[in-house]
Amino acid sequence: MYNKSIIILADGTRADIFDELVAKGDLPNISKYLIEPGSKLPAVTTFPSTTGPAHLPFLTGCFPGTCNVPGIRWMDKAKYDAGAFFNSYRSYVGFESFCMASDMWPHIKTAFELIPNSYSIFNSIARGAKGRRNFTKISRIWYWYYGHLTDRWGFVDDMALKKLLQVLERDPAFVFTVFPATDVYAHLSYPHHERVIEQYRRMDGYVGKLVDTLVARGEMDTTAIFLVSDHGLSKTDKHFCVNTFLEDHDLPPFFYPLIFKKKGKLSANMVSGNAMTHLYFRNKDGWSRRTTVDELKSISPNIIDDLLEEAAVDIVSVRNGEGGADVYSRRGHARVRLDGSTLHYEVKGSDPFGYKKLQSDLSPELSLNKTWETEYPDAPFQIAHLLTSPRAGDLIISATPGFDLRVKYEHPEHFASHGSLHTSHMRVPIVSNVKFEERPVRTVDVFPTVLKLLGHDIPGHIDGEPL
Ligand SMILES: [Zn+2]
Repeated sequence: MYNKSIIILADGTRADIFDELVAKGDLPNISKYLIEPGSKLPAVTTFPSTTGPAHLPFLTGCFPGTCNVPGIRWMDKAKYDAGAFFNSYRSYVGFESFCMASDMWPHIKTAFELIPNSYSIFNSIARGAKGRRNFTKISRIWYWYYGHLTDRWGFVDDMALKKLLQVLERDPAFVFTVFPATDVYAHLSYPHHERVIEQYRRMDGYVGKLVDTLVARGEMDTTAIFLVSDHGLSKTDKHFCVNTFLEDHDLPPFFYPLIFKKKGKLSANMVSGNAMTHLYFRNKDGWSRRTTVDELKSISPNIIDDLLEEAAVDIVSVRNGEGGADVYSRRGHARVRLDGSTLHYEVKGSDPFGYKKLQSDLSPELSLNKTWETEYPDAPFQIAHLLTSPRAGDLIISATPGFDLRVKYEHPEHFASHGSLHTSHMRVPIVSNVKFEERPVRTVDVFPTVLKLLGHDIPGHIDGEPL
């Protein structure tokens, strides 16, 4: 029935703002052509809720941990220990963004490898998109640089639409297009700023033009359109310097951009989206092993308590010796661990997320349904999945809304942030002209849905389930 699918990634679109605008009738094209005949599903993105890693679910059906791309920045402790120059740490901010596709585990396949005649627009994770199928391979950098210098990100979104309409003339089976403006405008101001809201309305205009084009080509009834987002954002006016914290604990940190200073470092700090960070520690015998919670306590006995003294720090997850994590907050302490797809959740005293009592064994579906309407939707499941990546931190911080975890070397200053486990970052809209059962879903579920609608097999390693 469908022979074409288009994913529009409206980067940084927050579910509650989107819902309010729909309710007010401010997004008439999205309502008329997508929601009314199709679906608007309540959804969560993935942890870390950041541009880049949170795009992976739409392109692979897998969580960032499953892909082994656990953040915007990460360290590979074993490679770092061996003194490797290449691939021992990474920041996808800037030119290394090209590395994300090759950093993924080789067995993970992208949409461009699985779907013939698939196209990538303004997206850096284009493994398998050969030649012109990576439609903006070179120009993406030019447009990003232009946007950065001029703040005219609305123009970059206009170009994303223009390129999407150009690609339609090539009769593609699948197109993934990133529209960056909402995210960037929110970072430069705050999520409810009029310029940001205006960009939601412009997105509605883009959907109108896309639908007009598909109707004119006689393709509207055979095209499955998805309008999605990779994360929300929250207003940020306080910055907490994790590097200073580590120095004060006699754990001099290795961090971006000062990656040529390696001497005497005892920790590493790899921030993502600015509201989460991966911390890595040097063990007494070197960097190569992961540092578990017991070993961390011998390296720096009070570090977890001291982190929780900081208002900026909301949730601290530390690897433990059982292959999972100990999760701490000012509310309580729990243990999480994955066994196949089942999540084991064990509260020690009181619950760190403030959940009402959960079962100790949870299926993926139950994990989401039971935590859906809380401040931390899907959090234990997401933490457990992230830690399956060998590159994930020994300790992961999720920031308190209102704070981020980076002070120095961030230009221009960020006034909004994302990346954390909080609902304001995790909840996103998923809208489609295809009708689906209305229930809470994850962004990893979109990709297997696209494969199914287009008649492709769904690879067994995928985390998502078709809608
Ligand atoms: Zn984003």
